[in-house]
Amino acid sequence: MIDLRSDTVTRPTPAMRKAMAEAEVGDDVYREDPTVRRLEEKAAELLGMEAALFVPTGSMGNEVAILVHTRPGEEVILDSQSHVMNYELGAMAAFGGVMPRPVAGERGFPTAEQVEGAIRAPIYYNCRTRLLCLENTHNMQGGGVYPRDRFQEVLRIARERGLAVHLDGARLFNASIASGVPARELARGVDSVMVTLSKGLAAPAGSLLAGKADFIQEAVRMRKRLGGGMRQVGILAAAGIIALDFMVDRLAEDHDHARLLAEGLAGIPGFEIDLAAVQTNIVIFRSARVAPRDLAERLKSEGVLCLCWSSDEIRMVTHLDVSRQEILQATDIARRVSRH
Ligand SMILES: *Cc1c(COP(=O)(O)O)cnc(C)c1O
Repeated sequence: MIDLRSDTVTRPTPAMRKAMAEAEVGDDVYREDPTVRRLEEKAAELLGMEAALFVPTGSMGNEVAILVHTRPGEEVILDSQSHVMNYELGAMAAFGGVMPRPVAGERGFPTAEQVEGAIRAPIYYNCRTRLLCLENTHNMQGGGVYPRDRFQEVLRIARERGLAVHLDGARLFNASIASGVPARELARGVDSVMVTLSKGLAAPAGSLLAGKADFIQEAVRMRKRLGGGMRQVGILAAAGIIALDFMVDRLAEDHDHARLLAEGLAGIPGFEIDLAAVQTNIVIFRSARVAPRDLAERLKSEGVLCLCWSSDEIRMVTHLDVSRQEILQATDIARRVSRH
């Protein structure tokens, strides 16, 4: 099977398996796991933050951040297509009593005007707008990179208006590699940032939440409250260290493969694809002739897995476990099964 459903399907590398087997561990709820601490220090350094915290998943990282930044009844401005808005089961409302205030960002990236327009006036009957959540790269919109100037303008408004800013950087390293800007620059000026290790970086599990030291102190408590305090989790952190040390630069290969795939698919009659939107490792295309559900079935029967993304769109994601050869193969198969 050529599995293009997601970069989450990557399996740990032999180097990760070895590091996991040999990891020095302790009880991380007592903050005594040396491998976890090493991973957290490395992440803080890479992201230009004072401290970082290992969390089981990206979703928990985002929700811990939201719960620490807000109080019940407050509002969070975010993009209507963001992961936090759509794929985290309303956690901010369920656990924090916090209201999402979605705006329809351009290609998933809110503008300064949109953010400013969504901030409530400080009148006694209004919710207090507390937090702005941004996403880079943007998952639902096909892995686009937040335009740098727009990001800076949005941060300036947030600062002026006293909002905290959380960056969902599940694929921040993809944005960094695609734009040639170090991750710490992409995170500069935000109060907290989450990055995942279990997507393109190929670790088996885990994400990191980074921010100021006092924020992370509160995040440790919130993680425990959500049931995310783990014990000898240096086993997983050891793979995470390999991910940060050796798997970031190779994301360029995934991006090359996505470009190759997108260009191949663009040449297939009945497929529509915005090539300019393919900036990292995600390819979303429209299938006009064959319904995505049928197309996905046909692809599967020929050994290619993908996701039905919407009623007329398919998503494919490149990653470590798909070779250039398999990308070319997948394109040929797509051409063949889209004919009738
Ligand atoms: C995958 C993803 C997450 C959540 O990660 P999990 O580890 O699957 O919980 C958060 N944000 C974005 C943008 C993602 O793509």
